[in-house]
Amino acid sequence: MIRIGHGYDVHRLVEGRKLILGGVEIEHETGLLGHSDADVLLHAISDSLLGAAALGDIGKLFPDNDQKYKDADSLVLLRKVGATLAAAGYRIANIDATVIAQAPKLSPHIRLMRTNIARVLGIDVSQVSVKATTEEGLGFSGEKLGIAAHSVCLIETVNSK
Ligand code: ZN
Repeated sequence: MIRIGHGYDVHRLVEGRKLILGGVEIEHETGLLGHSDADVLLHAISDSLLGAAALGDIGKLFPDNDQKYKDADSLVLLRKVGATLAAAGYRIANIDATVIAQAPKLSPHIRLMRTNIARVLGIDVSQVSVKATTEEGLGFSGEKLGIAAHSVCLIETVNSK
């Protein structure tokens, strides 16, 4: 059986924070605000995976009022999401994600993001697609107030025999 999942996340851009996307620290004048490292891409991917398995969302798994997750590395959280799915009898077929950011230019970092995501999920980089786009200066992403990310994925049940 195959199942589809969708995830969406937004974080605000502020001065004095690191910009981390897909586990890659990117040089930029602003960074994403959040309780964890605010890796909006990994959060959207995590939510799509949990959604596909109907296992809730990362807010439920890793509550933002829990000090344990302050400045948490979202790659570590994503690894836990992958382990949660595996324990529930699922494997990941593929992930396709889009980051919506006016700046900085993300294309030089996409390959490393895909590699990071594939590594913590124990899948091949060919199963992970990351794309980046802008909203042509429109809305909160266009005005560089925040960055959004969407993710869809397919997971399949692992045959026990
Ligand atoms: Zn988030």
